[in-house]
Amino acid sequence: MIVREFFSVRRAYVVARDNLILPVMATSSSSPHQLIDTFWKCKVPGKVKLCLWKACQDFLPTRSNLVKKKMEVELFCPLCENKEETPLHIFRYCPIAKQMTHHLSGMLGFSPSLSLKEWLNYCMEKLSQSSFCRLLVKLWFLCKARNDKVWENRNCEPRSLLLSAQVWHANYLHANIPPPKVPRNQHAWTKPPVGGFSVCMDGAFDVHSHSGGAEIVWRHSLVE
Ligand SMILES: [Zn+2]
Repeated sequence: MIVREFFSVRRAYVVARDNLILPVMATSSSSPHQLIDTFWKCKVPGKVKLCLWKACQDFLPTRSNLVKKKMEVELFCPLCENKEETPLHIFRYCPIAKQMTHHLSGMLGFSPSLSLKEWLNYCMEKLSQSSFCRLLVKLWFLCKARNDKVWENRNCEPRSLLLSAQVWHANYLHANIPPPKVPRNQHAWTKPPVGGFSVCMDGAFDVHSHSGGAEIVWRHSLVE
């Protein structure tokens, strides 16, 4: 029997989640669905999550991957120029990565046997959501510093990189504060008593343009 289904973004997401994302997250004691939800709900820009997700899948064009594809490039990490550049090296073992995440080393019990995805799963379970978000941003800045070095030969200094990551994330959070919820008026309009009027008033003022407006509506009891 042939089952025909229309393409939809939702269906594509479900297929991608079940075939690509779940296996990545399935190494944790928590439910993979829970971890995926936690990961994709992190309050960081989408490009940060996408970068780390690609890194977990080993989809990033690291030098080790480029060499596997027969490209003639240096194998060593462009930041420390000491070890082979793999995702695990960029985000965990590069000396610059260690300086960026040194404050986590005590509580996270870095195990050298953990893969990048296992390590991120572990961090996600052990850290609060805000701490995990900060970690993701730092890792993304590491990737950015690596690209700056490769493409613009710009060196990075771990402390200024850490500060830049913190400021950038704080600005992102500030710009994405959800607007306050305005309580809806629970009182429905009722007709005024016979011979009377009802008056509805509303107004607003914009402090930036120094302009505003107001409106008043009078309704007599005879008007439906
Ligand atoms: Zn390195």
